[in-house]
Amino acid sequence: MVNNMYDIKTLENLNENELKDFFESIGEKQFRAKQYFQSIHKNKILNVNDMTNFSMDLRDKLDAYNRIKNCSIATRIDSKLDNTKKYLIEMEDGNIVETVFMEYKTHTTICLSTQVGCRMGCKFCASTKKSFVRNLEPYEMCAQIYLVEKDLNTRISNIVLMGIGEPLDNYDNVVRFINLITDKNGQDMSIRNITLSTCGIVDKIKKLADDNIGINITISLHNPFDNERNLLMPIGNKYSIDEILKACDYYFQKTKRRIGFEYTVIENVNDSKEYMDRLVKLLKDRNCLLNLITLNPIDEFNQKSPSKGKMMSFMKYMNDNNVNTTIRRKQGVDIDGACGQLRINNMFDRGVR
Ligand code: SAH
Repeated sequence: MVNNMYDIKTLENLNENELKDFFESIGEKQFRAKQYFQSIHKNKILNVNDMTNFSMDLRDKLDAYNRIKNCSIATRIDSKLDNTKKYLIEMEDGNIVETVFMEYKTHTTICLSTQVGCRMGCKFCASTKKSFVRNLEPYEMCAQIYLVEKDLNTRISNIVLMGIGEPLDNYDNVVRFINLITDKNGQDMSIRNITLSTCGIVDKIKKLADDNIGINITISLHNPFDNERNLLMPIGNKYSIDEILKACDYYFQKTKRRIGFEYTVIENVNDSKEYMDRLVKLLKDRNCLLNLITLNPIDEFNQKSPSKGKMMSFMKYMNDNNVNTTIRRKQGVDIDGACGQLRINNMFDRGVR
């Protein structure tokens, strides 16, 4: 039987075996499970009423459990500089999240949200400013991909969980989503092409390793000194940098996946030689990739972004000292509200405070 919280409320949260139990429980043949799963996750027929291989009667029966059809694109903003597109996706209950589509020479990437709002409280991040509303369910993460693929008539090859929310603060839903999206009978996404970004929830990094999920992880570091990092990122008060690095070592041992580190460079805050040297010390003997991000200034965080020259010299210094380092390419700079800003602006437009 379907024995968890997904208990027949939403068919798009269920894997094929669970769907089999569901169809059996309503007196239908088990082969319906594969048909339903493929219709949604492979063919992107999101509304059961469009599934012509089901009788009208059966469609009526399934209608209330087919919730992915209630997700929709509220807004799309196209970059004029490249093919980046930012979406606001509206959920059944009216909550909206941001989803970004990016096109590269060799692949396409979608940046997904995992929560409505965020409770981590990082000082520089817009996603957390209007606090936390709720976790997204697995089907709401799938919906972000399927709606964008249908809108652009394309197939997305890579996923980054770097939109609104802290994915490891919504662990069960995120893992269930990953299992759904990598299912051979559905989207069949390669696990190697999925990257999860976290502010460093150590217990959950270890759990990801133990659960043998096999995705790539990247850690939002942003400052190599605990006392300063804690001021920027309150989660640091719970887990020190040393504990995070140990969890990363454990993750690497178990999965052999190279760990990423993100470092948002903030002018005159974390960009001097002292910081670079400390970073070198922390990262130089690790199989990792450091990704420098230019601060995207937001109103609530009164700091400046560094010049391009500063970013280049930071990167060079790190590479010269044996830390593999890149600068995150800016996609769609003309529409590049910082992560979470679009949603907040939209809330104000709608009069939500
Ligand atoms: N909660 C996850 C995903 C967040 S978004 C995490 O903390 O990793 C992805 C990255 O963008 C994180 O590294 C985050 O710290 C960074 N970020 C958030 N706001 C930013 C801003 N205004 N400028 C630059 N980077 C930002």
